[in-house]
Amino acid sequence: MTAPQPKAEGSLPFLPYGRQSIEDDDIAAVSAALRGDYLTTGPLIARFEQALCEAVKAQNAVVCSNGTAALYMAAKALGIGPGSTVIVPSITFLATASAPHLAGAEIVFADVDPDSGLMRPSDLENALARVGGKADAVFNVHLNGQCGAVETIAQIARQHSMKILDDASHAIGTRYRLGGDEKCVGENALSDMTIFSFHPVKTVTMGEGGAVTTNDPQWAEALTLQRSHGMTRDPALFETEEDAFDGPGVPNPWYYELTEPGFNWRATDIQCALGLSQLAKLTRFAARRRALAAAYDSLLAPLAPVLLPVAHTHCLPTLHLYPVLIDFAALGISRAEIMAKLGAEGIGSQVHYYPVHRQRYYAARYGRTELPGADRYYARALSLPFYAAMTISDVARVVETLKRVFGL
Ligand SMILES: *Cc1c(COP(=O)(O)O)cnc(C)c1O
Repeated sequence: MTAPQPKAEGSLPFLPYGRQSIEDDDIAAVSAALRGDYLTTGPLIARFEQALCEAVKAQNAVVCSNGTAALYMAAKALGIGPGSTVIVPSITFLATASAPHLAGAEIVFADVDPDSGLMRPSDLENALARVGGKADAVFNVHLNGQCGAVETIAQIARQHSMKILDDASHAIGTRYRLGGDEKCVGENALSDMTIFSFHPVKTVTMGEGGAVTTNDPQWAEALTLQRSHGMTRDPALFETEEDAFDGPGVPNPWYYELTEPGFNWRATDIQCALGLSQLAKLTRFAARRRALAAAYDSLLAPLAPVLLPVAHTHCLPTLHLYPVLIDFAALGISRAEIMAKLGAEGIGSQVHYYPVHRQRYYAARYGRTELPGADRYYARALSLPFYAAMTISDVARVVETLKRVFGL
């Protein structure tokens, strides 16, 4: 997902649409893990999980190899399988739909607000209406790091006895108001589970990595089983007693039991060392992203209405991406041409996302659903360079280049 990085133009460095911010102490933390006794299944796993719980005020966290694995494990732990129906907004990365689909579910794509890219309550209701009001879960997406009408979406989901999973791959560090309180994304005040991705373009990275948070200890146990082959070493869960125990209450030391075949989705101690070091910087990274977003918002204001920032919602976001909505028709220039011209000036850009309901696999499986909000968001979206190591003068350079490319 990270754009290839062409050579710098002249003396100006290339600014990708997103990238990791790795500092010397991150490197030292990884080196220390490499010198330690455990490269995997060691003490840094639980330490990372504890740190994530503290960062997002969750009660349980299960770290794993990537965000896609987190989505799959969550789907399985929520009981999603053959015969299940899961609603997913169409503007997201493929994995939000493909993970529950691989667990056995059929996917119903929901439309989104054309100006924010977020699923609205009416979009959820329309998606539900297409399946006779019956679905097992909604996998909501906090696109770009914003959350939408989460309270109303939760009400609708509860009325229909649906589980709620938040795909917060973009939204670590985001908060929203609920009643008189401020809640963290990942705290699961309204949802059953939240997943995070720690891919290098995300706000906090482990190289590759993911996690699921939940406040239900039984789901946490199910997630832990999913992470490692569906096997348990917990004597309390053993059922094949004659093989499991040497005598009453004395489990055989070599013994483990298979509950259901599973994959290996574990994260290593090396990944968790990087994750711990990065997570400690979340507050600083979030503040930096807010400052960069504020600079973009004000410098881009004169380009309205041809170019508009994505609509702001009422949450307190830690943005992962900085997308703008561009009226390419009014400019008389295609998005591909703009991306090529920006690239030639050392400015990376990307499109998040080609609507998943239009992807050939899902279009062939479900037919071409009409989701005009998703289509309209997609038609205009372009993500500009945005990452913690950027400076305000980098932002100014992006905006000046945009003006030049647009001839404005
Ligand atoms: C990055 C991302 C994922 C997948 O995470 P990986 O760690 O790359 O597997 C899922 N959903 C969304 C919205 C993402 O941005």
